[in-house]
Amino acid sequence: MPSIRLLAPEVYSRIAAGEVVERPASSLKELLENSLDAGASRVTIEVKGAGRDCLRITDDGRGMDREDCEACLGRHATSKIGAFEDLQSLSTFGFRGEALFAIAAVSRLTITTSVRGAKSGWKIAAEGGKVVSSGPAPAVPGTTVEVKDLFYNTPARLKFLKSGAFEKGRLVSVVEEAALANPGLRLSYKSEGRQVLLFEPEPAPDSPEAARRRAAQVLGSENARGLLEVNAERPGFKLLMFVSGADGMVPTRGFQSWFVNRRPVSARILQQALYKGSEAHRSPGRHPACVAHLTLAPDSFDVNVHPGKREIRLRSDRDVFELVSGLVASALAKSKTAAPLTLEPRQAGAVREPVAAYYLGGRSFFPEEPAFALKTEPAGAFAPPSGSPRWFTPPYRFLGQIEKTYLLFEAAGGLFILDQHAAAERILFERFLAEIGKGGAKSQRLILPLAVELPASAILKVLSRKERLSRLGFEVEPFGKTALNVTAAPALFHKSKDLKEMVLRLLESLEDPVGAAEAASHDAVATIACKAAVKAHDALGEKEALRLLEDLKDCQDGSSCPHGRRAMLALNRDELARRFQRPGAPPL
Ligand code: ADP
Ligand code: MG
Repeated sequence: MPSIRLLAPEVYSRIAAGEVVERPASSLKELLENSLDAGASRVTIEVKGAGRDCLRITDDGRGMDREDCEACLGRHATSKIGAFEDLQSLSTFGFRGEALFAIAAVSRLTITTSVRGAKSGWKIAAEGGKVVSSGPAPAVPGTTVEVKDLFYNTPARLKFLKSGAFEKGRLVSVVEEAALANPGLRLSYKSEGRQVLLFEPEPAPDSPEAARRRAAQVLGSENARGLLEVNAERPGFKLLMFVSGADGMVPTRGFQSWFVNRRPVSARILQQALYKGSEAHRSPGRHPACVAHLTLAPDSFDVNVHPGKREIRLRSDRDVFELVSGLVASALAKSKTAAPLTLEPRQAGAVREPVAAYYLGGRSFFPEEPAFALKTEPAGAFAPPSGSPRWFTPPYRFLGQIEKTYLLFEAAGGLFILDQHAAAERILFERFLAEIGKGGAKSQRLILPLAVELPASAILKVLSRKERLSRLGFEVEPFGKTALNVTAAPALFHKSKDLKEMVLRLLESLEDPVGAAEAASHDAVATIACKAAVKAHDALGEKEALRLLEDLKDCQDGSSCPHGRRAMLALNRDELARRFQRPGAPPL
């Protein structure tokens, strides 16, 4: 019994229009959604040539009869909705009836399908959207869609594709998302003949345990360890979420997945809720990892926003925001108080958050002219030596260190204070930049490679940017399916204890498109310098303090750290006199 119909023009004209197949991964996403909509419990995917040469997906779903098989390639041909109002109660991923049409138009496509219990199946082949053959096929229940030579007839789009490694990364992301959203699904993914991912169906697929195990499989068990569980139900709203605890925040924004009714989505409001909820426990540069499954009434959100169906609009986004951020905040707060306070060596007032004391502002933080400030006009007698920055007014006498964070000097009859971390960061940053400017940072092999656990998609992403990393002095190699080995690191930093963290932070900047490479590498370099720099809380002696000052003098801009935070303060002689109301002190 056929069930595919053509949508009437008044229906499809109200559906978000646009290109759905922009790269192999977007076709895979559409095909996977079709398999899930067909009720599949097993899906096998094989790709060759990063999905360009061949992309084959086989499911054990309900299949199509001959008429449906012949109809499914038509434009606006769908079995999922009839009238526009059906979108209000949509329970399928698809509804546009355009994916197969669009994929067929730009590839050589074959569909082999059979409904359960039929005597025979059906097969149809098309090239560039034209059916070239159709006929009976074996009665194997389910559907296989094979897409060959994607974009063979649209060279412009072919050109738009990125490197094989990049496209492979996108493909794996699509598979990971489907695995996270559907713990009951058996999902196999092979690329270039290699089994890249295999998810066995979870028993009790709707249980939080199943979702947690999938999250651990995708994120890596180390990253998933310690994720807090948020499990809440309200009328028309259900949330099952795994989110980083206060001590488990990660240095990348990349480990956040959102699903609404099993659909992978990116909705700003949800991300904002996550950050709002975790704000009290998050230090700058750290991000909560999360895998969040929301179940909402179909009429409470709209997927008809963008043809990729990734963006959704929540009807009462304020409520969802409040709920999600509140739930996250209370889970984090609970996890906090549950930790035995006795383990905390700090006494009274130990509630203080362990924020990185050295980092007071984010990237956009540019200090306004300090109120009690570095005087830019040093007294004539203390003019800086030529070629030195104006703030540099030797001789300096080291007075000591405060809070193991600030270095105090006497200079030019006044007080000069350095933030030791900001200063060290700036020095490393400029040295590192200089090396990169000369053709690449000096790299040093690590005696023992350092394994960094990452989702398979992130690994591919990193590998696809190998050159960029190598310019920064990092060499990486794949290590198993969910880890990378860092085999070399910038010589300036190779001894740092935080190499692993640096690599994770670098992931952030790798997300940026190549066009923004300049800014990204500035950021990456700043990040690396920040991690490698002397930490606040390192005890420094006179020799090291004076060395820091000397090195800072040679920087192009020693007055702030690479993130723009101030590195120094000065209370000069006049200012001191004024503050102590000495007679004859120069007025403000
Ligand atoms: P949509 O998913 O928006 O309906 P598609 O172009 O993706 O549009 O698919 C057209 C139709 O083909 C679907 O509505 C469905 O009836 C049928 N179909 C596609 N893929 C499969 C599959 N794997 N199993 C069964 N039916 C399928
Ligand atoms: Mg579809």
